[in-house]
Amino acid sequence: MPSIFSKIVSGGIPAGIMHQDELVTAFRDVNPAAPTHILIVPNQEIASLDGLVPGQAELAGPMLLVARGGYRLVINRGPHGGQKVMHLHMRLMGGRPLGPMLCEA
Ligand code: 5GP
Repeated sequence: MPSIFSKIVSGGIPAGIMHQDELVTAFRDVNPAAPTHILIVPNQEIASLDGLVPGQAELAGPMLLVARGGYRLVINRGPHGGQKVMHLHMRLMGGRPLGPMLCEA
């Protein structure tokens, strides 16, 4: 089964796409925790950051280069990190001063 983010990447599920190229897609989070909350994902379905094998490590650069403006980047990994969608994603949050940390319930 493709992940929910793979369905967004392929256009099967609508999302506010901000950027898409051959490697990376960025789209608005459906449940924003900040005025700007964008998810940046590799188009290829990779479960999590530690699922990156050496041949895929070059995806990390394009994911970072999509980010623009003033922001905080967060990658949740595993249950302790609070990762729920098992498709590697980087959250870009901003749109206001975020303070020292952004807390979610
Ligand atoms: P996680 O908790 O896995 O690190 O983050 C998953 C993020 O994906 C959450 O912020 C959640 O709001 C977002 N999300 C989950 N399902 C969808 C969806 O169908 N569309 C969009 N745009 N965002 C989603």
